[in-house]
Amino acid sequence: MHIITDGLVIKEQNVGESDRLITVLTSKYGVIRAFATGAKSIKNKNLAGTQLLAYSDFVFYKGKDAYNVNSAIEKEVFFGLRSDIDNLSTAFYLADLVGEFAPETADSEELLKLLLNSIYLLSKKKKTAPFIKSLVELRALSIAGYMPDLVACSKCGEFEAETVYFNIKSGTFCCAGCGHPDLSQYPISISTLTAMRHIIYSDAKKIYDFELTPDAEKELATVAEAFALEHTGRHFKTLDFLKSLSIPSI
Ligand SMILES: [Zn+2]
Repeated sequence: MHIITDGLVIKEQNVGESDRLITVLTSKYGVIRAFATGAKSIKNKNLAGTQLLAYSDFVFYKGKDAYNVNSAIEKEVFFGLRSDIDNLSTAFYLADLVGEFAPETADSEELLKLLLNSIYLLSKKKKTAPFIKSLVELRALSIAGYMPDLVACSKCGEFEAETVYFNIKSGTFCCAGCGHPDLSQYPISISTLTAMRHIIYSDAKKIYDFELTPDAEKELATVAEAFALEHTGRHFKTLDFLKSLSIPSI
């Protein structure tokens, strides 16, 4: 059986000397894992189309136990990413994160579009890496069923307050009057709350259209990452690597 689809390579493992096992996020068939025989060979026609973060037109063949890549013709390889290690590492982590909860067989067009548009903006340097990272963390989790409820204080219904406490476990917030800060609760300013509401509730076409002050960008980065890690319950080596870049070497 053949499957013809576009998709983004979100994981790549080397198998032996010349083969690759790739994980592809497709629009209609969810996540497909497939062997790409000989794909590491410099002469192989599928070399570029099966590399990590390549967006390609695929033809897969379903064998007895696994899928195989018949052909992978690259549509976009996000060349601009390769010149900035922060942007490239952010894209690797986001691909890893989205792969964690992308459905195995169902439609995943919304997640694929989010990832493609975000990686495109990074590769063109139109948005910063922390901005894109926070946005994808919150939006991807929302698509996957972990949408926070940021309408109002979960206790008194207050809509806006100078500072609120966001609870990463429940995905709700309390105003300062109702909140009792603990380890699950992160204090955030009204600008950060407004940005989070925008990321979660706005139309997919408009999600990138907002600005952040440097302080709000930092606050958002902390809370979005904590929320993503809490709900995936996973440790990401790609995130460790990304963080190691910001630690000044001695
Ligand atoms: Zn309250």
